[in-house]
Amino acid sequence: MSGSAPTIEVLRQHLIDPEICIRCNTCEETCPSHAITHDLRNYVVDADKCNFCNDCISPCPTGAIDSWRQVDKAKRYTLVEQLAWDSLPPQTEVDAGTPAEMPKEIARITSVATAGQGGVAFPPWSAAHPYVNIYSIQKPAIATVSGNFRLTAGDASSDIRHIVLDFGGTALPVLEGQTIGVQPPGLDPSGKPHHVRLYSVASPREGERPRYNNLSLTVKRVTEDHAGTPVVGVASNYLCDLKKGDQVKVVGPYGTTFLMPNHPGSSLLMVCTGTGSAPMRAMTERRRRRIALKEGGELMLFFGARLEGELPYFGPLMKLPNDFIDINFAFSRVPGQPKHYVQDRIRERSADVARLLADESCYVYICGLKGMEQGIDEAFRDACRENGKDWGAVLPNLRAQGRYHVETY
Ligand code: NAP
Repeated sequence: MSGSAPTIEVLRQHLIDPEICIRCNTCEETCPSHAITHDLRNYVVDADKCNFCNDCISPCPTGAIDSWRQVDKAKRYTLVEQLAWDSLPPQTEVDAGTPAEMPKEIARITSVATAGQGGVAFPPWSAAHPYVNIYSIQKPAIATVSGNFRLTAGDASSDIRHIVLDFGGTALPVLEGQTIGVQPPGLDPSGKPHHVRLYSVASPREGERPRYNNLSLTVKRVTEDHAGTPVVGVASNYLCDLKKGDQVKVVGPYGTTFLMPNHPGSSLLMVCTGTGSAPMRAMTERRRRRIALKEGGELMLFFGARLEGELPYFGPLMKLPNDFIDINFAFSRVPGQPKHYVQDRIRERSADVARLLADESCYVYICGLKGMEQGIDEAFRDACRENGKDWGAVLPNLRAQGRYHVETY
């Protein structure tokens, strides 16, 4: 008898928490080794393909991706097992063997985070501390609808709503730029509860109405998909049809990086399309309420919509003083006029844009359609080139300093 205990190889297995995941597909799109897949219910990680690069961790809006279990490598969770989960399995004790994958993984996290490049995002250094994951599907916060107002013109093709949720005696601290999840009632075609859908908070941290413990959302009724095929958006139609007094299950909040700076003198360069205006409205409103403090800093906004009547918050935006915010609208479907996108307006204002991109106190926020990302990147590149700067060098700097924030779907 040798007397030595049999050793096992321990794997820190990367998993996705099905209770928090909102199935936005960001992780699957991000994963360079194609380790992430999904079926109609769950997103899962193939332990044989995951190389712990961590590229998927930072873009995940909810943090569901940042789930790990120490397992005996020979008994790692298979894809079939993960696809059947409604919640993560508990961490069971694993006899210590050789943690073969650990040192490599930890080394990578450290090097990526300190470099501040690629997929890792940082909040502005002066951002307030965000609270996340306070409420889950098992223990949601229950909000009461205190308002549901149509933002788009009566003859507009889209029905965009400003929905105010009141949390009564329940604490749900949120910051501008954070999101909350809403779980529609009822069951999906497979007989399971609907997934949570994520919405950006459109009100500032002290609430839609200060001291009322409420917040607002900007929700477009989804009647077609990105390709124009008719679909009925489960969550958006549920939200848009809510009446005053209805109760809503809310989870979250989420988001630790798309946050606004708090220090006086900081500027915001905001680019949005459609309902991607929600976080910009929250940040602008935060600054508007503090206008008398004369904290300094500039606000520059590029806002794209099909038409004036389709642009959420058009009326209130037009009432803001010019010396408070520099607004640049881009309308794409005005009869008899050429299509204008936000990137066209950025080019028209290239001198001011390049100046703000180079200003260490300016923070950039992009929110809305995924398709605009490339156009905005090219417009920033052009603005820099015209003004003697190299976007290739400016962008990594912006990211490393927590000054570049993108949220697109
Ligand atoms: P939309 O009305 O379809 O489009 C808004 C404007 O963007 C239109 O003028 C459109 O022009 C233009 N556009 C289309 N492709 C573009 C491109 N490649 N580059 C620049 N502009 C482009 O927008 P929406 O339906 O409101 O969509 C907003 C997006 O924001 C959604 O993806 C939503 O998921 C996301 N979002 C929403 C929230 C929220 O809290 N509700 C938060 C964050 C993000 P055309 O005339 O060519 O269509």
